[in-house]
Amino acid sequence: MKENRTLMQYFEWYLKPENKLWKKVEINAKYLNAIGITDIWLPPAYKAAGGKYDAGYAVYDLYDLGEFDQKGSIETKYGSKDEYLQAIKELHKNNIQVYADIVLNHKIGADEAETVYASQEQNNNRNVDTTLPKKIVAWTIYNFPGRNNKYSDFKWNYEHFNGTDWDESGRKNGIFRFSGKHWDKNVDKENGNYDYLMGADIDFNNPEVVEELKKWGKWYLEFTGVDAFRLDAVKHIKSGFMADWIMSMRKEKEIDCVGEYWSKDLNALKNYITMTNSTIPLFDVPLHYNLYQASVSSGNYDMSKILENTLVKEMPSLAVTFVDNHDTEPGQALYSFVQDWFKPLAYSIILLRKDGLPCVFYGDYYGIPSQKVLPMNERLERLIKARKYFAYGEQIDYFDNFNIIAWVRTGDEEHIDSGLVAIMSDGPGGGKTINVGQRLANTVFYDYTGNIKEDVYVDHEGNGIFYCNGGSVSIWVKKGNIYS
Ligand code: CA
Repeated sequence: MKENRTLMQYFEWYLKPENKLWKKVEINAKYLNAIGITDIWLPPAYKAAGGKYDAGYAVYDLYDLGEFDQKGSIETKYGSKDEYLQAIKELHKNNIQVYADIVLNHKIGADEAETVYASQEQNNNRNVDTTLPKKIVAWTIYNFPGRNNKYSDFKWNYEHFNGTDWDESGRKNGIFRFSGKHWDKNVDKENGNYDYLMGADIDFNNPEVVEELKKWGKWYLEFTGVDAFRLDAVKHIKSGFMADWIMSMRKEKEIDCVGEYWSKDLNALKNYITMTNSTIPLFDVPLHYNLYQASVSSGNYDMSKILENTLVKEMPSLAVTFVDNHDTEPGQALYSFVQDWFKPLAYSIILLRKDGLPCVFYGDYYGIPSQKVLPMNERLERLIKARKYFAYGEQIDYFDNFNIIAWVRTGDEEHIDSGLVAIMSDGPGGGKTINVGQRLANTVFYDYTGNIKEDVYVDHEGNGIFYCNGGSVSIWVKKGNIYS
């Protein structure tokens, strides 16, 4: 039986090594599958500059999955190589696909520095040099002595990078472009050219780099057995490289992927999808900002426009929808955390509609103790289950009011007792006359969230009056269904 897929981002920024994430996900695999999680995105598994205190995005050695004594420890923040491989096995045993987090834009924590000619760039317009080429000392030599050539003998030096942000000789910060190199053109246009993000920026025009990263990708697929990739920071990587890399991975294995292109600008996302021939679905960042805006508007958001200018509306098959992630949580640079009261509404929007692959955030499910964010695991499980059991069939929208919006899923024959009515308000509560279709005519509905206690009766034509409370959501399903 075909089920709705639900992805879960299985980490938040402030996890500690003591949390032993690989162990935790292994232990919880069976339970997560039972509630309806079909896919799990695990954080970067390779050794980063900060060793076991690093979330993983400051990549040092792509081949060290917690196996070598580098950067102060053998383990990464999340555990050892063997624990990672064991977790993946256990997830597979429980029919959960695994997304690996792939960070290719940059490297940080070089083994040695070297003298390079470079021009400094204007911070907010990287197409403008502010100095002539001059000698700097750049951290660009990666020999990985702790790994001693196991899996790969590839060594990195300045020729494999475009630039960096630190001159060791002058102990000076800035954006330095190496002489003879240019920033890639097919990247985001912010700051004139947004190729450079952090650390030593990888040069995807160097054929040795392209070959090595393809070799590494194939090694990774084979070594870990992961099924899919979450591609980090794609707006800073030339689009042609990423599309080519994914295509070459797909020659090895039928993998899924999702790209992180962090922009509120829908056109930038659509442009990237065009440039990559629709091979890379993207996280729906504009939808996240709509949800965030609604949550901070104290009931004054026009809910009928909640899906305006979003990827899921315009390119539904290429959107991965989410409410929050490790970058938007409190204390992070992209802080835009959807407020607690709105979270059930936001999750209903991503989980119970037809389009997009929804991604549930670990920090919402388990809470974020360091930021005093409480877990909402029970409320969230209810919605994930509602997706799994009821969110099938045609979708009919009632986006016809400033406060109260609703939609119907008519259910289908394949899923017994399926079908639902989702109704929500960011302002005062109220009701709507809604037609649920012939399949569910002459039935009684109850609120699966438990927010409203009274039943709703649907007449022989399929009409019923459905309700929600103020600043709340109700999910109406057939009473006496086989799942209750
Ligand atoms: Ca770059």
